[in-house]
Amino acid sequence: MLVDLCFPIQEHWRYSKFHREMLSSKEKGDFWEITGFTMGSHWFSHMDFPRHTGPEYPDSEAFPLEAYNGKASVIDLTRPDLKNHGFTVEDMEKATAGRKLQKILLLRSDWEKQSDWNTTDFWDNAPFMTPEALEWIVAKKPTCVAFDFPQDYTIREGRFRKVTPDDQPSHTILLRNNNILLVEYVHNFDKIGADECEFICLPLKLPHIDGGPVRAVAKV
Ligand SMILES: [Zn+2]
Repeated sequence: MLVDLCFPIQEHWRYSKFHREMLSSKEKGDFWEITGFTMGSHWFSHMDFPRHTGPEYPDSEAFPLEAYNGKASVIDLTRPDLKNHGFTVEDMEKATAGRKLQKILLLRSDWEKQSDWNTTDFWDNAPFMTPEALEWIVAKKPTCVAFDFPQDYTIREGRFRKVTPDDQPSHTILLRNNNILLVEYVHNFDKIGADECEFICLPLKLPHIDGGPVRAVAKV
């Protein structure tokens, strides 16, 4: 079974510059249907390469597909009171007790069940990772981590002020300092229905890019 982990790329307040139009269509008197669209490399379901945090850090060319495709462990962090909850080392330990973790980690909160991703509430009151919990992840030596919630507290502040990589610990502790890739704004981890799966994540082949929209899928 394949589980689609991506959100649809369509009108969303957070990505107001997203634009889609027919470049060619029968309606316009053309012979072919061709759609044009404008996308940012970090819009909708996407992955981050370290270059996202500065031009001196490694980009997409530095990472083989194996770094973000392969066996994954689902870490169940679900709880009834996710609102503004900072996940701790204790939460991570509890969710992984007695398990050997794979090189790709899928951090499952099911936040979407408590808040709709189309609302500002999804971002403004999201659970997030504490720096200590991120250091815990580093010690497990994964190559890639995917989150079903906006994992840094200050992601919510991005629309009001200029937020830097240093304000976002997953982007420094995991991505910039340890080359652990991030897959952001994915969902449906509840539909995987297993502790482990095969994670398939394919960004478009834009050379030397800082990140890119992905189609991420779990094979169970
Ligand atoms: Zn990103």
